[in-house]
Amino acid sequence: MNEISCNVCMDLIPLVQDGIASEDSRKAVEQHIKNCESCAACYSGIVPPVADTERLIVDVRRKVQFFFVMLLMFGIFFGLGLTASSELFYNSLIMPIVGVFGYVIFRWKSLYAVPLLLLITNVISFVLNVFRGIEELGMYSRVMWTGVYSIFVVVGIVIAGLIHYAFRKE
Ligand SMILES: [Zn+2]
Repeated sequence: MNEISCNVCMDLIPLVQDGIASEDSRKAVEQHIKNCESCAACYSGIVPPVADTERLIVDVRRKVQFFFVMLLMFGIFFGLGLTASSELFYNSLIMPIVGVFGYVIFRWKSLYAVPLLLLITNVISFVLNVFRGIEELGMYSRVMWTGVYSIFVVVGIVIAGLIHYAFRKE
């Protein structure tokens, strides 16, 4: 019997398991997995077949994206919280990093998505602070700072985007 390659074996495994493979294919797979540990592991279900692996990658990518959304929101809340304090200048570091997270999540759409998020978060915290009677900045100042932070955010996005493109060309 002719030996089949691992790729052919991987292709045949689902057919064999579903019972729709030809007798010859089934024998070829059985012959192959006697001598091939990785295909045997795949056959016995220890390693998910290719389609499942792809699903796994999508799943991991979604989790990574969620992680970056959390980082982005944390950066925005933390940065905006500093606006009325003397640690305000840290935002010249925090906001570009927020921009990098934004690029990871939204790519170039982050150029308007992140400033929009900044503005929305600022408006919400303004309204909440007014209701609680602890607003220190005022709407005008908040809008102005949103603009200033957006510039830093855009710097971070452009840097992340350029690095991303530089690595993709290689
Ligand atoms: Zn193999």
